[in-house]
Amino acid sequence: MPEIIKNALSKASRYTVTAALPYTNGPIHIGHLAGVYVPADIYVRYLRLKGQDVVFVGGSDEHGVAISMKAKKEGVTPKDIIDKYHGIIKKSFEEFGITFDNYSRTSAPIHHQTASDFFKKLYDQGDFIEETTAQLYDEEAKQFLADRFVIGTCPKCGHEEAYGDQCENCGSSLNATDLINPKSTITGGIPTLKETKHWFLPLDRYEDFLRKWILEGHKSDWKPNVYGQCKSWIDGGLEPRAVTRDLDWGIPVPVKGGEGKVLYVWFDAPIGYISSTKEWAEKNGKDWEPYWKSEDTKLVHFIGKDNIVFHCIIFPAILKAHGDYILPDNVPANEFLNLEGNKLSTSKNWAVWLHEYLEEFPDMQDVLRYTLTANAPETKDNDFTWKDFQARNNNELVAIFGNFINRVVVLTQKYYDGMVPEPLHFSEVDQTTLQELRKFPQTISDSLERYRFREAGQELMNLARLGNKYLADEEPWKVIKQDEERVKTIMFVALQIATGLAILSEPFLPFTSTKLKTILNTTSNKGEVSNWQDVSHKETLLPSNHKIGKSELLFRKIEDDEIQAQLDKLEATKKANENENKAVMPQKDTINFDDFTKIDMRVGTILEAEKMPKTKKLMVLKVDTGIDKRTIVSGIAESFEPQDIVGKKVTVLVNLAPRALRGVESEGMILMTENTDGKLVFLNPDEENVGNGESIN
Ligand SMILES: [Zn+2]
Repeated sequence: MPEIIKNALSKASRYTVTAALPYTNGPIHIGHLAGVYVPADIYVRYLRLKGQDVVFVGGSDEHGVAISMKAKKEGVTPKDIIDKYHGIIKKSFEEFGITFDNYSRTSAPIHHQTASDFFKKLYDQGDFIEETTAQLYDEEAKQFLADRFVIGTCPKCGHEEAYGDQCENCGSSLNATDLINPKSTITGGIPTLKETKHWFLPLDRYEDFLRKWILEGHKSDWKPNVYGQCKSWIDGGLEPRAVTRDLDWGIPVPVKGGEGKVLYVWFDAPIGYISSTKEWAEKNGKDWEPYWKSEDTKLVHFIGKDNIVFHCIIFPAILKAHGDYILPDNVPANEFLNLEGNKLSTSKNWAVWLHEYLEEFPDMQDVLRYTLTANAPETKDNDFTWKDFQARNNNELVAIFGNFINRVVVLTQKYYDGMVPEPLHFSEVDQTTLQELRKFPQTISDSLERYRFREAGQELMNLARLGNKYLADEEPWKVIKQDEERVKTIMFVALQIATGLAILSEPFLPFTSTKLKTILNTTSNKGEVSNWQDVSHKETLLPSNHKIGKSELLFRKIEDDEIQAQLDKLEATKKANENENKAVMPQKDTINFDDFTKIDMRVGTILEAEKMPKTKKLMVLKVDTGIDKRTIVSGIAESFEPQDIVGKKVTVLVNLAPRALRGVESEGMILMTENTDGKLVFLNPDEENVGNGESIN
C-alpha cells in the first residue's frame, strides 16, 4: 500500500481537530468558509459518524496590533471590537452548521492562563533569547510604536506615507527605524528612540528537527502546497523570531522585565486550540490531556495558506520546546478562493458575507456548503462565481439529488401509502445497484482521509446519480401497469439508496440530511441507521413495513434574476471602489481673503437655452442674474437637453471678464461639478426664497 494511504488510514485512538482562529476585526465571508471551516466540519462530522472519539475546537483570535489600531481609529475600546465580531462570527458558524465542540476566545481567562504558563515554562527552560534593541517610542502616548503605528518617508522611493513595516508605494519591506521623518499615528508626534527588551524564539535551533519531521517524515502525506512552503522556509534558513511586543493589548509577558509588554499574537493564538480544548473538557467532565499529549491522538490543523508558517514551523517549534505535546499529524491548508475573478477583500468589501447570504438565500446553507466544497481551492487558488453557484444548485442538487428523493418519496406515498414495500425477487440490476451502494462509504472515506473534499463531495453526488439512473432505467411508473410485484422490489431498492444518501450526506449537507431523515422517518429510534459503516454492512437500511413521512422539497431552483441581483451588487461595489480610488485633485495654493472677495458669485435663473450649432459641447444660455439678463456660453451640451434646464436656478460667476466663444460673447460662468458617473451637475441654490442676484460668499 502506498505510504500516503497507509499514513492516512492509520488507526488513531482519538482525534483533535482545530480550525484557524478567525481574527475578530471583521465578519467572515465565503473565503473563510471554503478554505477552512467547511472542510474541517465535513471531516469531524465524518469522524463522528464513524464513531470516532473526536474533539473539534476553535475560537476567536482577539489580540494583536490590528485590533488595537482599529479600536483607536474608531474611538472605542479593543473589547468593544472583539465583542462585536466574536458575536457575529460565532453566529455565522452556528448558522452554517459548523459543529465546534467548543468555540472559545483568546481573551478568556483560561487562555490567558494557558498561554502565560506556556511562555513561563519555555522561559524557565532557557528556550528564549533576550535582546535589547532601540525602538520608536511616543513620549506623549507613553508607548512604543508598533510598525503600523508609524508613518514616514520611504528611504527607497520618497513616498511620504510609508508604514513602519512596508511602503505601499514601492512595496519595499522596511523597519520602522528606517523611515525618514517618522511620525506617530497615535499622537502625530515625532517619536524618539528608546531601548526595549524582547524575547525571541531561536527558530534556527529547530532547523534539524523540522527538516527531519516535515521534509523527511511528511514527504508523502502532506499536501504538496503545504510541504513546498515548509521546504522553502526551512531551506531559506530560519531566524530567531520575537515572541513579545510592546503593546497594551494582549497577554502580559509573565516574567521579570516584561512589564508593559504582551505576548506576540502569533505566540498566543495557536495555544488557543489547547485552551479551547481545556474549556471543553471542563464543561463536559473530560480529561483534556490525552487530546494533546497522547501519541495515539491524531492532531489535524485546518487553515488557509497564509497561516502555514505559523502552524507548521513556529507552533510545532513551541510545542517541541515545551516537550509534553504531540505534533500535528497533518495540516491540510487550502489555497485562496477568489470571487468572480478578483481577490476576496474585506477592506474593499469584495466578498459574499455569510450573514448577508442568509438574508438573501434563507435556509440555503447547504447550497453554499456544497458549492464551496465542489470548488474548494485545494490545490490552487480557485474562483467562486454566482453562475457556477446557480448551475451546481440547479443541475446537481435540484436535478439529481432532489429529483431522485422526490420521486422515491412521492411514488412510495402514492403506491403504498408511505409504507416501505416487501421486495420479492432481486434482479441482477437490483443486486449490482445494492452492491454499488455498499461501496460508497469506503470510496468517500478514501477521499476524506486524504483531505480531498472536492472528490468526496462528487462521490456523494455519484450516489444520487446511481439512484436517479436506477429509477430512470427501471421506470416503476410504467411497470406499475403490468407488474405490481416488480415495482415493490424497485421501490424497496430505491428507498435503500435514499437512506444511504441520508446518512452519507450528513457531513456535506447537514441540513438536508436532517430533512431527509425526517422525510424517511428515521430520526426517532425505529430501526434506523445512523452510522457511516452501516451503509456498507447492514443488509437492509430501511426495513419493509416502515412508514415514511410526507414529501418535502429538499432544494429549490435558483432563478436567473436572483443571480443577476448578486452580480449587480458586486458591480455596485466595484463602482464604489473605483470612485474611492479616483484621484482627488490636490488642493491649490492658498489665497488670502482679499483674493476671495474679488470673486462675485450670484444666484441666477436660466431663462433660455439652445445648443450652439456645429459644436458638441457648447450651449448658449440667457441668464437672469438679478443684475441683468445676459448671455453665457457654457460647455454643458453633452450633459443636458436645453428644454430640461430652462427655469433652473444656478450659481453664476458674474465678474469674469467677457470672452468670445465661437463668435458669441459670454459674460460670466455657470458653476458646475461632476457626479460619480462623470456627468455634469449644477451647483444648485434651490432653497426656497433665494432670489436672483443674491450674492454667494
Ligand atoms: Zn517606497
